[in-house]
Amino acid sequence: MKHRCANCGTSFYGDTRRRYCSSNCRKNAKTQSERRCKEKKRLLWGFTGYKNSGIKLRDSGRPFEAIGTEVLSQLGFNDVWFGCEKNRGFLVDFIATYDNKRVLIDVTSGIRKNIKFKSELARALKMPLFILFISPDFSKYFLTPDVSHQNSVRLQVSKIKSIER
Ligand SMILES: [Zn+2]
Repeated sequence: MKHRCANCGTSFYGDTRRRYCSSNCRKNAKTQSERRCKEKKRLLWGFTGYKNSGIKLRDSGRPFEAIGTEVLSQLGFNDVWFGCEKNRGFLVDFIATYDNKRVLIDVTSGIRKNIKFKSELARALKMPLFILFISPDFSKYFLTPDVSHQNSVRLQVSKIKSIER
């Protein structure tokens, strides 16, 4: 049976389930859809101007600190200690009590974050590690569960919540 490739439009013969004329076209289509998905995510979340990591909390000044503290206390985190206010090179942004345990929290404004070293630190300390995503315009957030066994984390669009202020 004759088909038209969903990527390049070339006619080809083959199985009805095949949508692309070649593995190259299949690969290209996949890359394109991944790119569109990422762009949609970035539009929804807001642009930071930074490729992957977003604005670093320690470089962003007071707003992130205030909003981070506010969101954390609304989510039930207590005794919040703001680490990078005391020392700009400190490894995580906050230490707080959650569910009767001291936990580490790092904040990002990006849509993904490499946490290889931070999760290694969390495991060495035997402390849970949470990543708090705050959108660049401070209107939305997403809090991960404990990610101390992951190397990287991604923003989960379906779990974004609004910041009530
Ligand atoms: Zn093709």
